[in-house]
Amino acid sequence: MALVSATEMINKAHEGHYAIPAFNTNNLEWTQCILRAVQETNTPVMIQTSEGAAKYMGGYKVVVDMVNDLIDSMGITVPVALHLDHGTYEGAKACIEVGYSSVMFDGSHFPIEENIAKSKEIIELAHAKGVSVECEVGGIGGVEDGVASAGELADPAECKRIADLGVDFLAAGIGNIHGKYPADWAGLNFDRLAEIKEAIGGKPMVLHGGSGIPFEQTKKAVSLGVSKININTELQLVFADATRKYIEAGKDLEGKGYDPRKLLKPGCEAIVAKAKELCEGFEAAGKA
Ligand SMILES: [Zn+2]
Repeated sequence: MALVSATEMINKAHEGHYAIPAFNTNNLEWTQCILRAVQETNTPVMIQTSEGAAKYMGGYKVVVDMVNDLIDSMGITVPVALHLDHGTYEGAKACIEVGYSSVMFDGSHFPIEENIAKSKEIIELAHAKGVSVECEVGGIGGVEDGVASAGELADPAECKRIADLGVDFLAAGIGNIHGKYPADWAGLNFDRLAEIKEAIGGKPMVLHGGSGIPFEQTKKAVSLGVSKININTELQLVFADATRKYIEAGKDLEGKGYDPRKLLKPGCEAIVAKAKELCEGFEAAGKA
């Protein structure tokens, strides 16, 4: 099955009150593990790369070819969209050109007028090629930016202006944070989410920084219009933890335990297990 635009799967999730998991990938193993998890749970999925991760893997075209080839060689039958996460204006254009089936243009750091102008242009370019588009309003908090207990909150009126451009799904800050959530995190701001939902007339929304948010909060967010949940950190943490345990147990020193295929296996199994748990938790399992 070829890559598909994310529009249909997101709209179905929106109508059916579940969320499409959008997993960030970093390499071949990550991509295989995500595909295994979604195929085994019959889950429609978005596989996404940041610009940095795509560069790490050798470039956008390497990613497109890798994902397409794995879908083919693994016999994947669930719908898979390949999405650019937090794309720049130039990055989004490059991905539309090279075969990503979905892109995010993140103009949230620009003044709103410039964000609108650039978002509009990317939406037109993408839609002309059947590529779905996510845009962002208001920024997402991050502990790396010195934000501690609360994320940023998007302005509903600004969200409406971007939604009215014909964007397929919209990312907006509702107190969510990238990376690990601090112990004193204030939680998602459901009042603001409800205001944004009202302002944008029921367009699907995206929850960034989905790692580690309790399922009762993601469920409530879904009931208020969230239809895509981004997961990056959570898979990284379980991979690192399982790999550390393997090495701390001295298993790399036993026989050929240093073989990368053995060394990376526990981490890979941990990714598959965590991804499956999230597919179930977002109630997207069985929806392919
Ligand atoms: Zn994000």
